[in-house]
Amino acid sequence: MNVTFICPHCDLPTRQPFTTAIPEVSCGHCQSTTPLIETVGTESPTGKCILCARGELFVRKDFSQRLGLTIIAIGFIAATITWAWHMPLATYAILGVSAAIDFTLFFVVGNLLECYNCHAEFRGIENLDDFQAFNLETHERFRQQSARLREATENSGGT
Ligand SMILES: [Zn+2]
Ligand SMILES: [Zn+2]
Repeated sequence: MNVTFICPHCDLPTRQPFTTAIPEVSCGHCQSTTPLIETVGTESPTGKCILCARGELFVRKDFSQRLGLTIIAIGFIAATITWAWHMPLATYAILGVSAAIDFTLFFVVGNLLECYNCHAEFRGIENLDDFQAFNLETHERFRQQSARLREATENSGGT
């Protein structure tokens, strides 16, 4: 199992392995450790983020939109070149293949767990079927919550 999270100490993204035996993760940049509230139980998933202890978790595809867009962009550039060379068949083939790669990648990649609150990504967890898929209402609830929190800390810090 591993977790990708934004380090609360240095604000840099880091990916660290964790097990049920080690109740903390350390940052790859500043080496500071962040305690895990409770290790993810494979028998009874709590649905609560073990990193920030506030967020709920949802399942999503482990598919990077940036990678998807990069594949499409490369295909588009290659197609522009073949089009300029008056090779329409090659152009259609390139566009078709890049779309097919994107489509296939989306379906072969595994799932991961993401926290609505701190956006930590947990990979390699079993029993993912027990978790809910992304829910826009919950997402909105957490977004407003953290916005209120930010406002509160800014106000208390300013006066
Ligand atoms: Zn750090
Ligand atoms: Zn969290």
